[in-house]
Amino acid sequence: MKKFFIPLFSVVLLSSCASVNYSYDGKAFNHSLETITQQNLKKNLYVIASDEMGGRDTGSPGQKKAGEYMIKQYQDMGVSHPDALDSFYQKVPAAYMNTGRGAGLPDSENILAFIKGSEKPDEIIVISAHYDHVGTKNGVVYNGADDDGSGTVAVMEIAKAFNKAKKAGHGPKRSILFLHVTGEEHGLLGSKYYADHPIYPMANTVANLNIDMIGRCDPGNCGKNYVYVIGSEMLSTDLKKINVEANTKVTKLELNYKYDDPKDPQRLYYRSDHYNFAKNGVPVAFFFDGIHEDYHKPTDDAEKIDYAALQKRTQLVFATAWELANRKDRIVVDGTNNR
Ligand SMILES: [Zn+2]
Repeated sequence: MKKFFIPLFSVVLLSSCASVNYSYDGKAFNHSLETITQQNLKKNLYVIASDEMGGRDTGSPGQKKAGEYMIKQYQDMGVSHPDALDSFYQKVPAAYMNTGRGAGLPDSENILAFIKGSEKPDEIIVISAHYDHVGTKNGVVYNGADDDGSGTVAVMEIAKAFNKAKKAGHGPKRSILFLHVTGEEHGLLGSKYYADHPIYPMANTVANLNIDMIGRCDPGNCGKNYVYVIGSEMLSTDLKKINVEANTKVTKLELNYKYDDPKDPQRLYYRSDHYNFAKNGVPVAFFFDGIHEDYHKPTDDAEKIDYAALQKRTQLVFATAWELANRKDRIVVDGTNNR
C-alpha cells in the first residue's frame, strides 16, 4: 500500500502545481503583481517628468537623458534588448520623420526591452508607451508626467514584474517586447517606424497593449476607480474577454468603453500608437484616463498624479498581458478595423 501511495501522491502534487502556476490566484502571478508598487512608479516618474528632461521633445537632449535613465532601469533589473539589436535603441532617422508634423526633427530613438518566451518565443506580445512629449516653450518645461510619463513608468514596472516571474521559474511562455516609442507628439512617428521596420514580424505579433495617460482622471470620472479601454474588441473578441476577466479577477476597475462608440467624434482608436499595429491586423487595446485640465499644459506634473490609480491600471495591463502570454492558444483575429 505504502509503495503505491507515495508515487501517486507526488503525481497529484505535481499536476496540481502545474495547473495553478499561471492562474490569477496562483503564487507566480501574485508574487509578480505585488512588485508593481506606487513607490516605484512614483520614484521613476519624478525622474522622467523632471525639469532636467526638458519636456522630452523628440530627439532633444532631455529626451535622450530620459531614455538613458530608462535603459539603466532595465539593466538594473536584468532585462536586455532584443537579440536582433546591438543595444536598446532602434534609431528613427530624421529623414524618416521630416515630413508634415515631423519637419525639422533630428534623429531619435525607440527604446526596446525584451523578455524571451519559454515555450513560444516567436509569438510576441508588445506593451507600448511613448516617452516623448512636447518639450520646452518660451523657457517653460512641459513635463508630461501623465502624457506619457505615466505609460513610460508603467511599461518598465510591468517588465520588472514579468522578470520577477521569470527569475522564479515562471517566465512568460510567449515573448514580451517592451516598446518605448518616440515621436508620438509629432504624429505617431516612432510607432509608425517600428511598424514599417518591425524587429519581430507583424504576423507573429499576438497583440499590442498600448498605454498613453493612465495617472489622472477626467472631469466626468474623478473619484471613480476606472480606466478607458479602447479598441479591445475591434480585431479580436478574445482580447476583450481576457481584459475583462483580468479586471474582474484582479483589479476590479470600472472599464469605460465610451470611446468605442462608433459615433464618438474623437475616433481615438485611429489616433494613437496602437493603430500602427491594428492597421497590420494585430489586435490592440489602448488604456487611457481621458482628457483633463492639464493635458498638454506645463502643469502636467508628477505631483498631480494619482499613484493609487496609476498602480491599479498598470496592474490591469500586466494581468492582461500575463494571460495573453501564458494561455494555451494564441488569441483569435476575428474582426476588422472598420466601425
Ligand atoms: Zn500621449
